[in-house]
Amino acid sequence: AQLPNSLEARDTAFQLHSYADARRQEETGALVIEKGEGIYVEDINGKRYIEGMAGLWSVAVGFGEKRLVDAAARQMEKLPYYHTFTYKSHGPSIELAEKLVEMAPVPMSKAYFTNSGSEANDTAIKLIWYRSNALGQPERKKIISRVRGYHGVTIASASLTGLPNNHRSFDLPLPQILHTTCPHYRTMKKDGESEADFAKRCAQDLEDLILAEGPETIAAFFAEPVMGAGGVVVPPDGYWEAVQPVLKKYDILFVADEVICGFGRTGNMFGTETYNLQPDMMTLSKALSSSYQPISALLINDTVYQPIADESHKIGVLGHGYTGSGHPVAAAVALENLKIIEERDLVGHVRAIAPTFQKRLAGLTENPLVIETRGIGLIGAAELSHEALAATPGALGAKTNAMFHDKGLISRNMLDAMAFCPPLIITEAQVNELFDIAEAGLKAVQESL
Ligand code: PLP
Repeated sequence: AQLPNSLEARDTAFQLHSYADARRQEETGALVIEKGEGIYVEDINGKRYIEGMAGLWSVAVGFGEKRLVDAAARQMEKLPYYHTFTYKSHGPSIELAEKLVEMAPVPMSKAYFTNSGSEANDTAIKLIWYRSNALGQPERKKIISRVRGYHGVTIASASLTGLPNNHRSFDLPLPQILHTTCPHYRTMKKDGESEADFAKRCAQDLEDLILAEGPETIAAFFAEPVMGAGGVVVPPDGYWEAVQPVLKKYDILFVADEVICGFGRTGNMFGTETYNLQPDMMTLSKALSSSYQPISALLINDTVYQPIADESHKIGVLGHGYTGSGHPVAAAVALENLKIIEERDLVGHVRAIAPTFQKRLAGLTENPLVIETRGIGLIGAAELSHEALAATPGALGAKTNAMFHDKGLISRNMLDAMAFCPPLIITEAQVNELFDIAEAGLKAVQESL
């Protein structure tokens, strides 16, 4: 029950929440978080939780990192705001652009700043269209992404996203955006198909779609190295080795959405390295600033940049940009955050504890409710058998999520896939603490059915 005038009641009264059933929200209220330290957060009633999702897959360095607070305060005092429009600039955005271009695992020539993952992908689409026009290929505007991929929620990035909730009731996707097969072996394989054959068929499906549409109409392919919000789908062995040559064959740009995978999550600085990808563009956000400030970036290589430069010279403007693009406070925080990631070798740390994380994740299959686990590095999901509740998909996931919350673990259910994506600073002992709670929570759910 929500006490009158409580924060919960005022939240219900005044705030429309993202990704929620508004009527249910009116009845049950929200979990109101007040503060955080390390991998833990505390609600307004003083209850402590492990933040098993690092917020929204993003708080890499954990909560309460004083260095980020100080970096923000210093920049606020010096220059709280300036922009990057029309030949103006400022130190933090310049330093961050240089840093990201240097960090890129494949040659990139420019960084373009935006404020969210959605905007980075939306901007990528606009620059791809601008480039096609610059190249005198106005018909080359179609874009392919994947079923269950997640790329954001603006009109164009929601179209890239391959999930029904982001399309249904919004009249999406846009007609230029097409979706190809999700590389989830268990649900998408044909009878008797090996994992290797499935990986090849995914590439064949992509090629069939390109040929059916006409290769000269396809501009780009967007994909996450590992799908996150679609349920943590780790591609089968051989998938990227089969898909990338298809893109090369038809001269299709590859945009790697590194919004979740970027900055250590998969055990390398970028998912692009983990899977030996050759993207032309990369979108970055979340762990870029550990979400202490909203900021995202798009990296583009010379193949993308040069025609855009020519076109903007010809017409006199690149007619795109956000007031907050490269915001100095957000950029200063991102720079300090990247320093922390490097100084503390968080990528090495992820590699060191990933075996324990993945072993404990796989161990959840000992509970009969768990039909599959998937993961790499410090990201993973446990898929529950939704039939166990003889209810609609997602009901068991929601029930399990509530049980985990009760027991002090914040997780996220994507339908019946329970996701785990803790801050990268998590220790081995804390990984065990997280999965001890998950095991106990699953057992309690199982006993309640
Ligand atoms: N791309 C990926 C891979 C994401 O996971 C997300 C968000 O979860 C986005 C893009 C969209 O980012 P934002 O919510 O900042 O718009």
